[in-house]
Amino acid sequence: MKQLKIIGRDNPVLTEKANPVGQIDRELQSTIDDMIFTMRKANGVGLAAPQVGLPIRMAVVETPSEYDEEDNEIPDSRRLFVIINPEIVWQSRKQVKGIEGCLSMPGYLGEVSRHQAIRVKGLDRRGKALDLKLKGWDARIFQHEIDHLDGVLYTDRLTAPENFWTEEEFEAMREAEQEEEN
Ligand code: ZN
Repeated sequence: MKQLKIIGRDNPVLTEKANPVGQIDRELQSTIDDMIFTMRKANGVGLAAPQVGLPIRMAVVETPSEYDEEDNEIPDSRRLFVIINPEIVWQSRKQVKGIEGCLSMPGYLGEVSRHQAIRVKGLDRRGKALDLKLKGWDARIFQHEIDHLDGVLYTDRLTAPENFWTEEEFEAMREAEQEEEN
């Protein structure tokens, strides 16, 4: 497995619509393994093929672990998905605001509204049909990754242009807000 280069927003592949995956062959399997490896190395929760310069409709997602009230990790709460030719076939009317970052724009964060729940259809890495009902953070991650396949970045969906910060600005803002509360 090798670590792939994650491209930045100056690369046109990131802002173009990607093509459907045709054949799920051995070459694709090794690309998938490299993408999972690259996502984990970068501490990401998702990586779409265009982010490594490949204009194809495929993404890997690894949902973060969930914890119970005593802060113990819930077994199997961290799940790895490989999704090929994904389509959002249903989305909740309810939207929720949240803070997102992107491996293609390291060091920045922004506030984005996403559907609270979605249903996604597509294929897994073996070509088997996938039908996923997702909510909360999982739904957010999938919406972000599927956007990449359409050349859409989270910065295209900010709740307001000013709701975009460097990580340092965001931390300072949160600290200031907390001080105000106390
Ligand atoms: Zn991204």
